[in-house]
Amino acid sequence: MTTVVSAEPDVQPLVVPFGEGDRSMADLLGGKGANLAEMTRLGLPVPHGFVITTEACRDYLRLGHPPVRLEPQLVEQIAVLEHVAGRRLGDPTDPLLVSVRSGARSSMPGMMETVLNVGMTDAVVEALATRRGPRFAWDCYRRLVQMYGRTVLGVDEGRFEERLARARERSGVADDTGLDAHTLRGLTLDFRRILVEESGEDLPQDPQEQVRRAVVAVFDSWNGQRARRYRAHEGIPDDLGTAVSVVEMVYGNAGARSGSGVCFTRDPAGGAPGIYGDYLANAQGEDVVNGSRATLALSGLADLEPECYEGLLRHVHTLENHYGDMCDVEFTIEEGHLWILQTRVGKRSAAAAFRIACDLVDEGHIDMDEALRRVTGPQLQSLLHPRFRAATDDDVIATGLPASPGAAVGEAVFDSGTAEAWGAAGRAVVLVRPETSADDVGGMLASVAVVTARGGLTSHAAVVARGVGRTCVTGVEGLEVDVENGQARWPGGFVLVRGDIISVDGSSGQIHRGRLEVQPSQVAEAVGHAGDPGHVEHSADPLVRAVLRVLAHADLRRTLGVRANAETGPDAVSARGHGAAGIGLCRTEHMLLGARRVLVERLLTSHDRGPTLEAIQKITCDELTGVMEAMDGLPVVVRLLDPPLHEFLPDLVELSVRVAVDEVAGHVDPELVEQLAAVRRWHETNPMLGLRGVRLLSVLPEIIDAQVRGLCEAILALRARGLSPVAEVLVPLVADVAELEAARARIAAAVAFVAAAHEVDLDLPVGVMIELPRAALTAGALARAATFFSFGTNDLTQTTWGISRDDAEGSFLSEYRSCGLVRDDPFETLDQVGVGRLVQCAIAEGRAARPALGLGACGEHAGDPASVRYFADCGLDYVSCSPPRVPVARLEAGRAAVLPAGSAQSAGARSAPVGVPTQ
Ligand code: PEP
Ligand code: MG
Repeated sequence: MTTVVSAEPDVQPLVVPFGEGDRSMADLLGGKGANLAEMTRLGLPVPHGFVITTEACRDYLRLGHPPVRLEPQLVEQIAVLEHVAGRRLGDPTDPLLVSVRSGARSSMPGMMETVLNVGMTDAVVEALATRRGPRFAWDCYRRLVQMYGRTVLGVDEGRFEERLARARERSGVADDTGLDAHTLRGLTLDFRRILVEESGEDLPQDPQEQVRRAVVAVFDSWNGQRARRYRAHEGIPDDLGTAVSVVEMVYGNAGARSGSGVCFTRDPAGGAPGIYGDYLANAQGEDVVNGSRATLALSGLADLEPECYEGLLRHVHTLENHYGDMCDVEFTIEEGHLWILQTRVGKRSAAAAFRIACDLVDEGHIDMDEALRRVTGPQLQSLLHPRFRAATDDDVIATGLPASPGAAVGEAVFDSGTAEAWGAAGRAVVLVRPETSADDVGGMLASVAVVTARGGLTSHAAVVARGVGRTCVTGVEGLEVDVENGQARWPGGFVLVRGDIISVDGSSGQIHRGRLEVQPSQVAEAVGHAGDPGHVEHSADPLVRAVLRVLAHADLRRTLGVRANAETGPDAVSARGHGAAGIGLCRTEHMLLGARRVLVERLLTSHDRGPTLEAIQKITCDELTGVMEAMDGLPVVVRLLDPPLHEFLPDLVELSVRVAVDEVAGHVDPELVEQLAAVRRWHETNPMLGLRGVRLLSVLPEIIDAQVRGLCEAILALRARGLSPVAEVLVPLVADVAELEAARARIAAAVAFVAAAHEVDLDLPVGVMIELPRAALTAGALARAATFFSFGTNDLTQTTWGISRDDAEGSFLSEYRSCGLVRDDPFETLDQVGVGRLVQCAIAEGRAARPALGLGACGEHAGDPASVRYFADCGLDYVSCSPPRVPVARLEAGRAAVLPAGSAQSAGARSAPVGVPTQ
C-alpha cells in the first residue's frame, strides 16, 4: 500500500510508513521518525514501523481528542505493519509487539514519553513464554504494565520502583536481570493491582486499544511540565507538537546474546575521531540510559559479538558519510542480530563542535563555510573562560545570576576600600556587596570576582564586571552583607567572615565555600594573543588549532568590522590581542572614576573651573596616548564626556544629614553648606534621563575644549614618536541636530586652536551617538552634520522601552520573561521589532542624506551573538564590544555572512508579540 504525501496540508496523511518518508520531512515526522525513514531508504537494518505525524498531534492538542481521520489510518497502517513483519498484534501463536515513541522536530531527549512492549496481554505472555521462555515473556509484560501505568495512567513511578527494590532484595540480586520468571510474574500481577488501585483501570487486553492509549499519552507528554521547561530553555516553539513512531519491537532483553547500546560516531565531549559509546547485555534501551546497571565500553562488544560490532562500524560509517556530521545511534542486538533503532546528528560539547567541524573539513565532508555554520558564539564564549576542575553542589552556599562568566577564588571582603588595599598587597579578593555603584569601581578592579545581593544582568556590577573581564554573580537573593561587622549571611544561614575563602562561578551563578581548583582556558590564552602583531600560534592542542582556524575563516568571510570598547592602554592592548580592528567607543567618563571622580564634582560645584579643566585635559591626553599607541594605525573613537551625575556627585541625602548634624552641634562648615547648595542645584530625580552627554557639554562647553585639546596633544605626541594615531570624536546623547552642530563647532575650534599652536594639520571626524528615539527619527538631519553614527543601544533600548536600564533585570522584566511576555531581555539581545526598527530607520535616512556615512554599534548588544548577526544584516560597518567579547563578535559576524539570509531574525521579529503560553 502506498501513502501519497501531498503538498496540501488538509489532505496530508496523518500516518506515514517508514518506507515513504525521508529526512527532509522532520517537520511532519519529527527528527526521529524522519531519520528512521531515511535509514530505511539507506537499507540499514531498521525494524518495520510507521510515524503518526506532528499534524495529528497538533490537531489532538487543539481539539482535545484525536482527529477522526486518525483512527482509520492507524488501523490501516497497523495492518500493513503486521503484513510486512509477518506477525500480528495479539496473535497467541506468534505475537507482534510494538514500541510507541515520541519524537519532535527538535530533539528533546528524555522530555517526553515512550511505551515499550505494547501488545502484551495475558494471552500473549503465555505464547511468548512458550516461544522464547517464561523469564523473557514476563520481563516484557512487567515492563509494559509499569510504563503504561506511569505514562498512560499517571501512576507514580516510585510505587513500582519500591516493589522492584523489594523483589531484588528478597531474591538477593543486584539488578533486575537477576530476577527470575516467577518473581517477574508476581511483580506483573502486583503492578496491575497498583494500576487499578491508583487509577481505577487495568491494562486493556485489546492490543489495538493499548496502541491508541499509548499514542494519546505521548501526545499529552508534549505539554508535560518537563517538556515545557525544556522548550522554554532551548527556545523551541510550543506549538509544533510531537510525532509518534510505532515500531516493531526487537528485544535486547532476550538473553546473553542480546543487548542494547548507544554510540556516537566521534567523541561528543572532546570531538576526537573514533566510535564512542556504551553497551549493556541482556537489556532494553532504557536500561542503558537510566544508569541502573554498569555499562560496557563499546570496544567490549568487539569481543562479545564481533560480527555485530563490525556491522555497527559499517553502519555508523554509512550514516556519518550520508549526514556529513557526527551522528549518535541507538542499537539493539537480538540473539546475535543487529538492529539500528534511531539516529540523529549528535549533540556535542562546545569543544567537540569546533574540533569535529574542522576534522570533517579535512576529511572532505564539508567546507569551511559549513564548519563556520556549525559552531556558535555562545560555544566559543564557553571555551574562553576558566572553569573549576571538580565543582560539586555540596559546598554551594548560594546561587545568583551568572552576570559575568569565569571561575575565580579569593578572600571575601565587603567594602571597596579593603578590596583595593588587599588587592594592592597582592591578595586575591572577592568583593561581596549589597550592590555596586561608581564608588566601587576601584574595588571591583582590585578584585578577582564580584558578588552582589541585588541587581540583574545589566546592573552596574554586571556591566562593569563584563567590561573589565571580572567574574561576577549578581542578584543573590537573601544575601545580607553587614559591611560594618565584616561579615555576610548567605541565604541558607551560612555566615562568611572577612578573609574567608570563596569560589565564584560566573558561568553558573554558583558560589562555593572554600577553594576550588581553577583550570585556565588554553583557548582564551591563544585567542587573546592571536591578534597581536607578529604573533604566530603553534599550538599542539587540536581544539586550540580548530578554534583559531574557524575564527580565521570568519575573519575572511565577514564584512562587519569588530572593534572594542576600551579606555585604558592595557585594555586596548588586550582588545588588539583579541583581534579588534580599533576602538569603537572610548568612554572618557570612565577615565574619571575612582579617586578622579572628584574632578567631575568640582566642575559642577566650584566657581573656578580652570584647574579642574586642566587636570581633565592632562588625564585625557595621558590615557588616550596609551589607547592610541596600542591601536597604532587603527581608528579610536573618543566619546566626549557622558557622566550620569548621580554617579559623580555626592549623595544628596547623606550630605544633607551631615550638614544638619553639624548645625545641631553648632559648628557649621561653610564649604559643606556651599557644596550642599551646589549638589541640590544639580540634583536630578532621574539622572539617566538628565544632564548627561551633549546636554552637559552644551551647558559647560569648556569641557569640550579640555577634552579635544587633550586628545589633539596625545595625537601630536604619538606622531612625534613616529606612530600613526587615527582618532574620531563622538558626541553622546544627542536629541536634536542643533545640539550636535553647537558641539561640532566647538570641537572644530578646539582642533584649530591646537593645530595653529603647533603649526600642524589636524582633522578629526565628528560622529554622533544614536541613542535616543528622537535622534533615530531625525537621522537625516544628524547625518548632514556628522560623518558617522554609532548606535548606543543601551540607552536606545532604555528610552524606547521606557525601562530604566539600571533597574531592568531586578524589576518586572524577569517576571515578564518567566511568564513568556518577552522572550529575551531587550538589554541583552537587541529587540529587533522595536529598537531594531529605529536602527533601520536611522540607517536608511542617514545614508540617504550622506551616502558615505560610517555606521557602528557600541552598546552591550554589540557582543551578543544574535544581535551581532542582526547588525551585520543591517549593513553596519562595525560593532564595538568589550575586549573579551571580541572573538565571539568576530565569529558571529563571519557566521552572518555564511548563514541563510534572515537567520539573525529573532523569534519576536517573526511573530511579535510573543504571547503568554496557553495552558
Ligand atoms: C549606549 O548607550 O549604548 C552606550 C554605548 O553608551 P553608555 O552605555 O555609555 O551609556
Ligand atoms: Mg549611552
